[in-house]
Amino acid sequence: MSLKIIESCVNCFACEPVCPSKAIYEAKPHFLIDAKKCTECVGEFDEPQCASICPIEGAILDALGIAINPPGSLTGISPEKMAEAMAELQAH
Ligand code: SF4
Ligand code: SF4
Repeated sequence: MSLKIIESCVNCFACEPVCPSKAIYEAKPHFLIDAKKCTECVGEFDEPQCASICPIEGAILDALGIAINPPGSLTGISPEKMAEAMAELQAH
C-alpha cells in the first residue's frame, strides 16, 4: 500500500524531509513516492506525514486513488465557490 504524488505537485520540497520511510524523492516533472518504501506512515503517525504537510489540494492520492486533501479541504473554499470565483475572474 502506498500513497501517490500526482502532476499537480508544485515541487515545494515540503514532504520529502517529513517522510519517515524516505520514500519520497525528487523526480521530473514532480516529486514521487517509492511504492516499495511507503508504509502510509502506519505504526509511526496517525496521519500520512506527506499529505499532512502538502499545501496543494489533490496532489497526494491514497492507495485507492482518492485525494487525501480534496478540493476545499485546505483553503476552506468549496469547489463550487472556487468555480464561481474563477468564472468571475475570467469575466473581467
Ligand atoms: S505516507 Fe508516510 S511513508 Fe508514505 S510517502 Fe507519505 S510520509 Fe512517506
Ligand atoms: S508537499 Fe505536495 S506539492 Fe510539495 S513536493 Fe510534496 S507533493 Fe509536491
